[in-house]
Amino acid sequence: MSNAAATLKSDLTAIVGEHGLLEGAAVRERAATLWHGQVDAELLVRPRTTEQVSSILRLCHQRGQPVVTHGGLTGLVNGADAARDELVLSLESMNGIERIDVSGRTLRAQAGAKLGDVQRAAEQRDLVFPLDLGARDSATVGGNISTNAGGLRVVRYGMMRNLVLGIEAVLADGTVLTSLNRMLKNNAGYDLKQLFIGSEGTLGVVTRAELRLVSKTRSQETLLAAVPTFEALVELLGRLDAGLGGQLAAFEALWGNYYDFNTAPPATNAAPLERGAPFYAIAETLGGDPESDRARLETVLGDAHAAGVINDVTLANSESERRAIWNIREDVWQSRVIAPLLSFDVSLPIENMKAYTEEVCAGVRAYAGDNRAFVFGHMADGNLHLVIAAGDDAATRARVEDIVYTPLARIGGSVSAEHGIGLEKRAYLPLSRTAAEISTMKLIKRALDPRGILNPGKVFA
Ligand SMILES: Cc1cc2nc3c(=O)[nH]c(=O)nc-3n(C[C@H](O)[C@H](O)[C@H](O)COP(=O)(O)OP(=O)(O)OC[C@H]3O[C@@H](n4cnc5c(N)ncnc54)[C@H](O)[C@@H]3O)c2cc1C
Repeated sequence: MSNAAATLKSDLTAIVGEHGLLEGAAVRERAATLWHGQVDAELLVRPRTTEQVSSILRLCHQRGQPVVTHGGLTGLVNGADAARDELVLSLESMNGIERIDVSGRTLRAQAGAKLGDVQRAAEQRDLVFPLDLGARDSATVGGNISTNAGGLRVVRYGMMRNLVLGIEAVLADGTVLTSLNRMLKNNAGYDLKQLFIGSEGTLGVVTRAELRLVSKTRSQETLLAAVPTFEALVELLGRLDAGLGGQLAAFEALWGNYYDFNTAPPATNAAPLERGAPFYAIAETLGGDPESDRARLETVLGDAHAAGVINDVTLANSESERRAIWNIREDVWQSRVIAPLLSFDVSLPIENMKAYTEEVCAGVRAYAGDNRAFVFGHMADGNLHLVIAAGDDAATRARVEDIVYTPLARIGGSVSAEHGIGLEKRAYLPLSRTAAEISTMKLIKRALDPRGILNPGKVFA
């Protein structure tokens, strides 16, 4: 360990104590729990209080010491990668749920609390925290805020940005910015929390948040439908949205090959509907009256069937049937048995999706010999995920990124719908943001973090 690292270690120990610090192999082992990326850092600090976070950042600011904040490490764009000389600041010891206000329907949590724990705590009080995603039992509130996570119920409740009322964050120089607003309405000056939502740990360390809860609904229906054409998929979305009076909470599209692949061995998911349809849809509704809600849904689906909008449909009759339907959608990495994968998270207007996905699939077919592009995602939000099983070496990556992003840029879509930019998509930021937007982002970064210590190199160089 260099002299500078040894001094840093002893100063950090003075703040958090010996148990609050990890070093060497114990830090780099974290790479094994990362979904995507690398941890090569020498030191990891685990503060237990906001005051400790403040002292750590003040120290790092004075020394120009780079800091990478870690939540649950489920990010998918190398946003938590940490090089040897970077200090990892993990929120894992700040994972408490501090308060639930039932009448005001708010919950205050520390940033290291797991999303699943927040959901369960709300549930115990007959309330719901509506953000939901596959990584719910590892991802943290701080990570969800910093990536502005989306997930499965955005069509009804919006992204994380819509669910955060207030934030406590520590700035690069150690200033604690407490903005733990609990009201839905507060137009008193700038809404500073927005700076930290979606900025991927580059503007501050989020330490606490005041989250918005909603009432628990009394009915939930989950359906899987086989759909003959893309146009019918769009029509089905419109019919469910209009016909159910605002009860639609999720609408996921699965291209036929994704469903077929994820319901045939070696995948372990059963196929509730026959394989071979061009498209499938998973939709979920949340309502207030189990009997009449199901009847209304059956009417909408019956009409859709009679009009040729769906070929077949099944409704879940138990939680295990519901889970079995969702597991088909969430088995994202199944196609890695073909070849190493590259995954993409794009957004574009629904009217462009058909031509866009056809162009991408044709490009992949021309490159790899067959169509190894598996498309699925949050169609109602204009967000598609593409998993392409054509290898992940540098040459394949460059070619596949070109196949995915060139037509997207033409349409004016986004290279990141919900996962963020991190390191992985940095080169492609200018495809989705103008030069003026990027230089304004840099201006804000310089104002809040003049020495550039927070998550350096992420989002932009
Ligand atoms: C199986 C699976 C399914 C997923 N599904 C979805 C999905 O449907 N929708 C979606 O949006 N994402 C999804 N993701 C991506 C991921 O779960 C989200 O990006 C999540 O919000 C990251 O949270 P985390 O705590 O793991 O953050 P990390 O991975 O630890 O960090 C992510 C970024 O946030 C920064 N950060 C973390 N905590 C803080 C903090 N307290 N203060 C400041 N910066 C911080 C990090 O520096 C990094 O840049 C999925 C991932 C997996 C593995």
